[in-house]
This record gives sequence, structure tokens and C-alpha cells, in this order.
Amino acid sequence: AQLDTLDLIVLVALLVGSVAYFTKGTYWAVPKDPYASSAAANGAAKSGKTRDVVEKMEETGKNCVIFYGSQTGTAEDYASRLAKEGSQRFGLKTMVADIEDYDYENLDKFPEDKVAFFVLATYGEGEPTDNAVEFYQFLTGEDVAFESGAGADDSPLSSLKYVAFGLGNNTYEHYNAMVRHVDTALSKLGAQRIGSAGEGDDGAGTMEEDFLAWKEPMWTALSDAMGLQEREAVYEPVFSGQPKGPYSAHNPYVAPIVESYELFTVKDRNCLHMEISISGSNLSYQTGDHIAIWPTNAGAEVDRFLEVFGLEDKRHSVINIKGIDVTAKVPIPSPTTYDAAVRYYMEVCAPVSRQFVSSLAAFAPDEQSKAEIVRLGNDKDYFHEKITNQCYNIAQALQSITSKHFTAVPFSLLIEGLNKLQPRYYSISSSSLVQKDKISITAVVESVRLPGASHMVKGVTTNYLLALKQKQNGDPSPDPHGLTYSITGPRNKYDGIHVPVHVRHSNFKLPSDPSKPIIMVGPGTGVAPFRGFIQERAALAAKGEKVGTTLLFFGCRKRDEDFLYQEEFKKFQEQMGDSLKIITAFSREGSEKVYVQHRLKENASLVSDLLKQKANFYVCGDAANMAREVNLVLGHIIAEQRGMPAERGEEMVKHMRSSGSYQEDVW
Ligand code: FAD
Repeated sequence: AQLDTLDLIVLVALLVGSVAYFTKGTYWAVPKDPYASSAAANGAAKSGKTRDVVEKMEETGKNCVIFYGSQTGTAEDYASRLAKEGSQRFGLKTMVADIEDYDYENLDKFPEDKVAFFVLATYGEGEPTDNAVEFYQFLTGEDVAFESGAGADDSPLSSLKYVAFGLGNNTYEHYNAMVRHVDTALSKLGAQRIGSAGEGDDGAGTMEEDFLAWKEPMWTALSDAMGLQEREAVYEPVFSGQPKGPYSAHNPYVAPIVESYELFTVKDRNCLHMEISISGSNLSYQTGDHIAIWPTNAGAEVDRFLEVFGLEDKRHSVINIKGIDVTAKVPIPSPTTYDAAVRYYMEVCAPVSRQFVSSLAAFAPDEQSKAEIVRLGNDKDYFHEKITNQCYNIAQALQSITSKHFTAVPFSLLIEGLNKLQPRYYSISSSSLVQKDKISITAVVESVRLPGASHMVKGVTTNYLLALKQKQNGDPSPDPHGLTYSITGPRNKYDGIHVPVHVRHSNFKLPSDPSKPIIMVGPGTGVAPFRGFIQERAALAAKGEKVGTTLLFFGCRKRDEDFLYQEEFKKFQEQMGDSLKIITAFSREGSEKVYVQHRLKENASLVSDLLKQKANFYVCGDAANMAREVNLVLGHIIAEQRGMPAERGEEMVKHMRSSGSYQEDVW
């Protein structure tokens, strides 16, 4: 393949030695992946990976490390952005680090003239993300001790300057618990925080603005503390390089979809059931786990993006993407093409960041567009009115500013500035006991018109899955809503109806003793894991095992419209007899809207009795409203049925959460 040398983007990691020369940071980081190729593993080994961050910074000439604790990749992306900004605006020598990749016992040796950032997401019930568990346990443990031998009472971290930002969701009780606890622990150990500990709120949808509002005063404080000089932020590519063979540090299992159909079809609403085979892979799952699906962007949006940035004509030119810096990781398997990079690896349809739009001002096609971009960058309200509220993605946003193309924007800026395409998680809707090699998912296709927006937002992953379903069911050129997917994947790797996946283990689990009763609340697609739970208990009952009461509260709009798995549940009922009870709430059948929480209340004494028999209580689905309501109602039920004050009921629910008998799987 011919290489378009002018467009060689730079690249990948681990060119030890030859890269010592470069001092600019490169900030691609990729989550640890069970399918990381052996090439990647060898590369890491060759680079002589150390777990000593002080040594690593010394060796690579860094003075700023940005640790991330990330579950889905968002915290990691914020870490990358901070690294880039620190480098471009303040000349910091930054590196991004997975918090799991380093030891912490020597944080007491952290040099005074350097700084450590902690960008930490809170997961589930106030827990650390998987990659931050050890760090968290170490730091908050009773007898924390460092290499020097100093312990919690001696201020061992007095030389450590740190910056903290948390990613949380205020619909959870333990809002941003991770960053709060880490901040407290670090201060207690004598470390010196720079700026305030930022908190972004995904629940209120203000993560980006919370981040922007937090970081400016933080940079001011950091400049004071480290004597940094702000310089004009000039775009400097962090990618460049020569051709290098295929490289994949990011390699999910490409699984065959063995069956797919729609659970209901109502005008404009689709809900998919898919069976994904993991047979022959080394993947395994347990009932209640999550599967991650790695999507492909819609062709229509790839075209729009390439057109807006003037890349349409050379979309199939071969490019190489290589990291300049030893601390860089590879975002995009290389060599690739513009088309493939955009289609498979860049999150081009997501809401647009004001900061990123600002960074394009220098490359605007004319003065007028430049002035508009500058205004959008500086005026938060204006940006909201013109871009955010319109639900534009980046290409649509630029199209709304001018019909001219942004041909001057370096492709490497787009790679750095946009998030990498994230996998989406689905609650597995099958039982591993019943079908250990086949994972079911239940996904509603996202197609929403948000208030005030002029167009529908089409979910990236679910519309892609819909196209796969159409193809599998005989449509030769699937094209849901004119989105034109490229089904066969990069280098035809997904041909024959495949989708890249990985499995994430969760704590959402059936009791190990099947005779224990369970109560499940799962309206809409929230029923997904409960289909798996019921499938499992029905199979156990069919084998003659004693299965406890299995009570499901299910809700949807109408019995004849969107009652998921109605027929299957009838079959399970035959196997389980009276032990399976399904209580339904149909919100659009009567004059009043009835939801699962209403039904829960109506069945207070049954629920209370089952709880007395030590039932586990499970909630799955909408985090913002339903899960919170259910939590409240359950508190009321307990209080009322046991003649306690309301606060005691709430406390009992809290206690159930901490003891694991109240479990949530919400999104
Ligand atoms: P995306 O492209 O990610 O869009 C999602 C939403 O973001 C849109 O609907 C819109 O509101 C907003 N949005 C996107 N782009 C823009 C824009 N440019 N401007 C403004 N707003 C925008 N879903 C299920 O159906 N079944 C499950 O069993 C299930 N289980 C889950 C389990 C977990 C643990 C988690 C975290 C999530 C689960 N989800 C489940 C949700 C699922 O992961 C996806 O979020 C969902 O399917 C939408 O993905 P998508 O790629 O189609 O949509």
C-alpha cells in the first residue's frame, strides 16, 4: 500500500531510545484489555516496564504524572486532556498513567518539584474502579506505611503535590466517594493539594462544564505552586512517524452473532435480542455480568466528518499512527486509513466539548468562522444554545457555523482531541448455567429527539446492532434510518455477522442458595439480567432443585406492545409453577400512569414477608428516576410494615445495600 507521507500521523509507543529525543508528551492510553495482543505484551516487556513511578518520571524527563482510575474510559480521556493541556499551555512534561500500573509505597519519595494528578471515577456504590482498587485499599488502609517506614501519623507524603478530579453521578448515594476519600487520605498523610478537588456530575449531565469550571482555577494554583509560565497554546502534533507493521494493543474478541431478532416492533421503536457466541474464545461469563460491545460509526456520519475536515478524497490513503513518547499507548491499530480510523476508532457522534471546538479556531477556513468559534469557546451560554442544545456532533456543529471545510485541521489534532470510540455495556440477559458459551443481550435502539433539537440522535452502538440484525435476517444492504453501516469491519474482520466484545464481571449476582427468595425490579430493558436470573432458576427447578420465590416487577407501556419476553416467561412459569411471580405495570393502558414503584407499594406485605425470609432485592434499569423511586418506596414499605419510623426504613435499605442484599445494576 502506498503511504501518504505528508499525512503520516505519528505514533505508537515504545520506541525506546529513538524517542528520548522528543520531550512532548503523548497521551494515548488504552484500558487494559483481556484480549491485548501478544505483540503488545512483548512490546511492554521490551520497554522494561517499571512499577516505580518516581523512577519512570526521572528516566523519561517528566514532571507531571496524571493517574487515572477509569472503568468505562471517561476518566482516562479526561486524564489525557489534562496531560495535553498541561504540556501545551504550561510546558509541563506530562505522562498519563493507569493507576494500576504503578506501586504507591514509594509515593513518599515523590520529588517536590513535580506534581501528581489523580483523575478518579467512582463506580457503583461508591467503590473504586477495578483498576484503582489496590491503590484505594493501600491509601485508606489502617496501617498504611511507605518505603521510608513512615506511617499515617508522620506526614510521609509532605513532598507530594497533587491535583484531584472526580467523576461521579449524583443519582448515587455515594456521590464522588472515590475522589473525596482519596483526597482526605492524601491530605491526612501530609500531601499538599493544589486547587480544589474537582467533582464532575454525570447524573446532572454537567460533567464537561464541571470539568471546565474546575480546571482554570486549578491551573492558576498549579502555576503559582510550581512557578509555571503560561504560554500561548500552540498546537503541536504529538503524533508523527514512519510505517510500522500492524499493531494492536486494543483487541477485543470478534464474536459471531448466532441469532438476532426484534422483541417488539412498534413504529420507530426497536428492541433487539441477540445471541453472541463466545465458544472457542477464552471468554467466560457468569449470570449477572456485563458484555461490552465495540461499535462501528454509521457510514453517514463518517462521510460527514471526512467531508467537513476535507478528507473525503483521500479517505482510503494509508496512514500510520505511532506514538512518539514512551508513555504513549496506541489508540488506533496501524497502518490504517482515514476512513477506518474515523469509522472504528474515534467517537465522532458524541456531544461536543466546548474546549475542543475552541482549539479549532486557529484552523478555521475564514475570519468569520474563526470569530464565531472564538465566541462559542468563550461564551458558555451561547455554546449551549447553538451547539449542545441542538445535539450536534462535531461535524454537525462545524456545518452549522460554515459550509466551508476545515481542511487545515491536522488529523492528529482530531485523534488527540476526540475521545476514542468507547465500547458500550449491556447487562447479559442469559444464564451461564444454561448457555455458558452464548451470551444474550437485550438492547433498545436509541433514537431520541431531545427537547429543542432539530434532529434525532441515533445511538451509535444500538443502530449498528440493528443493522447487523437486518443483515443477518436477509437484508443484503442494511440501512437503518439511512445510516449505512459498513458491516464487514476493518479489513473484513467482522465479515459473516461478527461483533467485537469483551466481558466485564459484576457483583450483581443471584444468591448462591437457590432456595432463597428474590425480588427483582426491572422495567423496560431493565429486565435484561432478570431474564438470565429466571432462566437459571427455571433450569434448576426443572432439575428438581428447590427454588425460592422468584418475584419480578416488570413495567412497560402496553401489554400488547413492548412486554419483553412475555411468551418465554410463560414457559418458565410452567417449569417453576407458583414460585415464579410476575407483577406488571403498564404505563399507557389506563388513564393513570402506573409504574413498577406503584406496584411495589401495592404489594407491600408480600415484599415485606419475602424480605423477612432473607430475600435479595435487585433493581435494574434507569438510574435517574426509577431506581431512586424504588429505593424510597422500599424504605417506606419496610417502615410501614414493621411499624417503624420512616428513617429506620431508609436505614434498613442502606444496611441491605452494604450487606449485599440490595443490589443495583443501573445506567
Ligand atoms: P450513544 O451513541 O452512546 O448515545 C446515547 C445517548 O447519548 C443518546 O440517546 C443521547 O441521549 C446522547 N447523545 C449521543 N450523542 C449525542 C449528541 N451528539 N448530542 C446530544 N446527546 C447525544 N442498554 C440496553 O438497552 N440494555 C441493557 O441491558 C443495558 N445494560 C447496561 C448496563 C450497564 C452497566 C450500562 C452502563 C449501560 C447499559 N445499557 C443497556 C446502556 C447501553 O450501554 C448504551 O448506553 C445504550 O445502548 C446506548 O448506546 P448507543 O451507542 O446506541 O447510544
